[in-house]
Amino acid sequence: MDEREMTCVDGTAWDVVVVGGGTAGLSAALTLSRVRRSVLVIDAGEPRNAPSAGAHGVLGREGIAPLELLRLGREEIAAYGGRVVSSRVAQVLPDGEGFTVLTQDGQQCRTRRVLVTTGLVDELPAVPGLAERWGRDVMHCVYCHGWEVRDQVIGVLGNFHQALMFRQLSKDITLFRHTGAELSEEQWEQLAGLGIAVVDGEVGGLDVDDQDRLAGVRLVSGTVVPVQALVVSPRFVARAGFLDGLGLTVREHPTGFGEHIAVDASGFTGVAGVWAAGNVSDVLAGVPQAAAAGVTAAAAINMDLLTADAHGAAASRAAISEVDVFSGAMEAEVSRRVLGSRVHGLEGLVEGD
Ligand SMILES: Cc1cc2nc3c(=O)[nH]c(=O)nc-3n(C[C@H](O)[C@H](O)[C@H](O)COP(=O)(O)OP(=O)(O)OC[C@H]3O[C@@H](n4cnc5c(N)ncnc54)[C@H](O)[C@@H]3O)c2cc1C
Repeated sequence: MDEREMTCVDGTAWDVVVVGGGTAGLSAALTLSRVRRSVLVIDAGEPRNAPSAGAHGVLGREGIAPLELLRLGREEIAAYGGRVVSSRVAQVLPDGEGFTVLTQDGQQCRTRRVLVTTGLVDELPAVPGLAERWGRDVMHCVYCHGWEVRDQVIGVLGNFHQALMFRQLSKDITLFRHTGAELSEEQWEQLAGLGIAVVDGEVGGLDVDDQDRLAGVRLVSGTVVPVQALVVSPRFVARAGFLDGLGLTVREHPTGFGEHIAVDASGFTGVAGVWAAGNVSDVLAGVPQAAAAGVTAAAAINMDLLTADAHGAAASRAAISEVDVFSGAMEAEVSRRVLGSRVHGLEGLVEGD
């Protein structure tokens, strides 16, 4: 099958189009395809943790390479009839009771419901050379990377709480004040009590050794402080700009760490027919939480479709029973169906009630 093929098997609208095929999107698609919903995942293929060697805290698959986890997920979905295509969604437009989904490479399809699982962008501190090392020896999450840098010489860029967190993994922690907030007296006391060094002054760059390993943090003043790993605090920004036309609410996360699409506990966005799950709506979610949110949203979408279909079925039945089965119209309809193309010569009778 063409891996860009977006047409629904029977030519009608998909039950669900999932925009984004990371952990959240694929988990949702697996759930939906297992209850025989027609589901299409459109994925641009850039999951957030791709720079990392392994996804940690993933029970049963601890440390699996991020792209391998998603490859396995795609295989599982295909086995239940779901489809995953490689493309980037450019726009989602309301279309009658559903939506039209348009991709950047000019394809389109129709769907009854949309699940947005496009993740987020980590906006990294503007320190030269830092972005190139992201996900290797520059990191943000103690649960994702802490074990891997245990007992190393660790620098923390401007974030007091991160310094406390990584102190659990190493005794050798340095907090670089950089452009961070002033520390309170109580915070100074805690840092001193835990043996965390504090360095004043703005950071201007990173030093790397001849084996491409982080070797130090260089201050604007020129001083170099040796470190093997650097912890930073990116701003987390939901990948939602392409959905402008839908009227979703993108708001600041309560932690102040970034912005996300506002949803209820089921992932419902408040816009009829549109759900969101994973990092796009929960900037703090790791892989297991993103998977769980995808499953939760899938179940909510399935229930919504199921309810709509059941109402539709009841309404059709009511419409039929309201018709007088012995009326001329019904007789004509029966004749039309029974005789089909053999109606020749009887048109007047069949048509003319
Ligand atoms: C460096 C790093 C390491 C991490 N390590 C761990 C770890 O060890 N353990 C852990 O639990 N968590 C880890 N995380 C967090 C983890 O990456 C996220 O929890 C997880 O990726 C969230 O899944 P998601 O499906 O919401 O988003 P993503 O995995 O980011 O997937 C979103 C998908 O949507 C696609 N997409 C975006 N826009 C569009 C569009 N317009 N059209 C189509 N597709 C689109 C993207 O290309 C991507 O494939 C790490 C994060 C980082 C940054």
